[in-house]
Amino acid sequence: MTTPAERYRDRLPLDSGWPVVSLGEGSTPLIPAPRISARLGVDVHLKLESANPTGSFKDRGMTIAVSQALADGARAVICASTGNTAASAAAYAARAGIPAVILQPEGAVALGKLMQARAVGARVLEVRGTFDQALAAARELGERGTHVLVNSVNPYRIQGQKTAAFELAEALGGPPDVLALPYGGGGNTRAYALGFEEWGEAMPRIIAGEAAERATTLASAIRIAEPVHRAEAEAAITASGGSVVSLTDDELLAAWRELAEREGVFCEPSSAAGVAALARVELEPGSRVVCVITGHGLKDPAAVERATVAPLQVDPDPDAIAAAAG
Ligand SMILES: *Cc1c(COP(=O)(O)O)cnc(C)c1O
Repeated sequence: MTTPAERYRDRLPLDSGWPVVSLGEGSTPLIPAPRISARLGVDVHLKLESANPTGSFKDRGMTIAVSQALADGARAVICASTGNTAASAAAYAARAGIPAVILQPEGAVALGKLMQARAVGARVLEVRGTFDQALAAARELGERGTHVLVNSVNPYRIQGQKTAAFELAEALGGPPDVLALPYGGGGNTRAYALGFEEWGEAMPRIIAGEAAERATTLASAIRIAEPVHRAEAEAAITASGGSVVSLTDDELLAAWRELAEREGVFCEPSSAAGVAALARVELEPGSRVVCVITGHGLKDPAAVERATVAPLQVDPDPDAIAAAAG
């Protein structure tokens, strides 16, 4: 299997002779979404970034960032994270044989992601403070040189993440007309814009779905009050002819349900933001649309508990079961 680092080596800032730290990321499925397509009157495909090794697109950037950190002689990596960056950093650090320090804002992390970081042996510290305060502390340690910061301000993250755009252009025989994705910190939006720009054909119209209540949304992966990449991400969206769509939690959950129940795709709530945002913009009939499904549903079991019906209890009796099954 070829990884993005191998496939797109000439398009990545990799020093020759680098050992690439890989868990087999990239080459994720691109599947049609026939029911969503029929509802919107366009041709929608879903890029399942949830199929990456730790269950989110963060792995595309982390393979490059951790490889560079190793090449630079790093002894440890550090990040502040509400979840998927932590899960990914922890796994790639374990793979590289170096420690990972994970700073989590108190009580703000989805269960599956926290378990992933713990399982692979990361040093998980719960910070009494906000995400922004945790990030400031991680940055300071990065500047002191004791730890390499692998948050998305690390430029190698965006370099790695841009490979998803290359995969889309290859799979579709050119960029899609529209790219719809969640907008948290904006790093991934920047990465796709960079990838399509370097690809050199047309730039898709970028539709970025953010939480209307950024600080409190149930979609924890986009619960980011101050997007670090706001200026660059929004400039790229505007230049593409696209827009930022602010979504309520009800809109996010409706799209999450449609993906799960109508397309069989179980993602975390944030990952439904692209699909949710499409309902709020004008779309050229028949145009080719890709929605990025950023993270796997198993990461956030609490969201499922809130949004779905609990199992009924029945006796082991065929008639009772048939009646209860409806
Ligand atoms: C990180 C993440 C996002 C947000 O991406 P940004 O680059 O911060 O905009 C969205 N969904 C999931 C599942 C994520 O892990």
